[in-house]
Amino acid sequence: MTQANTQPEVNIGLVGHVDHGKTTLVQALSGSWTDQHSEEMKRGISIRLGYADATFRRCPGVDEPECYTTEEECPDGSESEPLRTVSFVDAPGHETLMATMLSGASIMDGAVLVVSATEDVPQAQTEEHLMALDLIGIENIVIAQNKVDLVDRDRAVDNYEQIQEFVEGTVAEGAPIVPVSAGQEVNLDLLIQAIESEIPTPERDPDEDARMFAARSFDINRPGATADELKGGVVGGSLVQGELSVGDGLEIRPGREVEEEGQTEWRSLETSIRSLQAGSNDVESARPGGLLGVGTGLDPSLTKGDALAGQVAGEPGTLPPTRHEFEMQVDLLDRVVGKEDDESGESDIEEISTGEPLMLTVGTATTVGAVTSARDDECEVSLKRPVCAEEGAQIAINRRVGARWRLIGVGTLS
Ligand code: GDP
Ligand code: MG
Repeated sequence: MTQANTQPEVNIGLVGHVDHGKTTLVQALSGSWTDQHSEEMKRGISIRLGYADATFRRCPGVDEPECYTTEEECPDGSESEPLRTVSFVDAPGHETLMATMLSGASIMDGAVLVVSATEDVPQAQTEEHLMALDLIGIENIVIAQNKVDLVDRDRAVDNYEQIQEFVEGTVAEGAPIVPVSAGQEVNLDLLIQAIESEIPTPERDPDEDARMFAARSFDINRPGATADELKGGVVGGSLVQGELSVGDGLEIRPGREVEEEGQTEWRSLETSIRSLQAGSNDVESARPGGLLGVGTGLDPSLTKGDALAGQVAGEPGTLPPTRHEFEMQVDLLDRVVGKEDDESGESDIEEISTGEPLMLTVGTATTVGAVTSARDDECEVSLKRPVCAEEGAQIAINRRVGARWRLIGVGTLS
């Protein structure tokens, strides 16, 4: 297979209520399990976004949709042709992890909304995640009606109609609803067909300044590695524009907080790119799309444990400013979405007021900010942790409602 076909070119988010089958579906399509961390395994939910790549293929001479597959060998023994490689971003459905879902949304080019046929529609996070897609403007959506193996025909049809009714008037109105069983691997060909037609690879300009949103960062060294063996820190995330190549300089913002003579200050990190991994391949240069691992010359202690998650990387001198405060135009939702029936608290969303804390997701960064001034549809916030963001950036705004942070609207950095 040529590299052009194995480097992922589009990021597709998996969203929906907990236990509706997102991780199982990604596994069925990609053959890999996204819940990689032992802790995640234990808790059975994806605490961090999990990534997995899948190459969609087609069996020549076979009609649609049966021609679509992820297998290299067709039923008749011939070899399938690769169409494109996609990268799935498996968002967690657990209620407290909306921020993680939103940071994933900033790198999604489209989404598969997974809805279980075994439950009434909508469940709390089905609604909440759809609202987030709507707000952030992710318009290319396919709905997977999952677990159809567990319901009879009538129930499946009822549930299908509930889904149709539920998405009316939202960004997912008119999106194809594909009945599948991720567990039994039924109708995956139809799902691939729908993704191929609804979630195209975005057009990208390779001449723009490279910009990567870091979603994770790691120390890949084993404990006890000697100084000679020690590998530099790795940053994982998504290149949203431009190109990166091995040997290029790399700046990462906001970088790290340094203390000097009692003063603290954030300084960007500068290093160079030592290796690049796109999909599961080492590459010399990487284009936008898909998820990337960038091996750097940084001290691995700087990248350990997702320390650089939420930061922005690119060619030195080309990144947007680091902001400790900013002003944004605010667009509030009409009401709080995704509330469980037994939860208390107001359903109407009050105006933002001066002094209140907000949780803001900007790119892949999540930070808490205090509102320093609020008027009509504008507000100014002062951040606990700075973010690297440019004018026009979209910000998901969360407020504490009842026991947890709730999405209340979207801001545009002005
Ligand atoms: P997530 O929380 O949305 O990622 O859900 P998971 O993928 O972890 O699935 C939750 C549970 O549903 C697991 O026990 C899966 O084995 C099961 N499951 C997922 N898809 C199907 C399906 O199509 N049919 C059946 N019978 N079970 C499924
Ligand atoms: Mg999962």
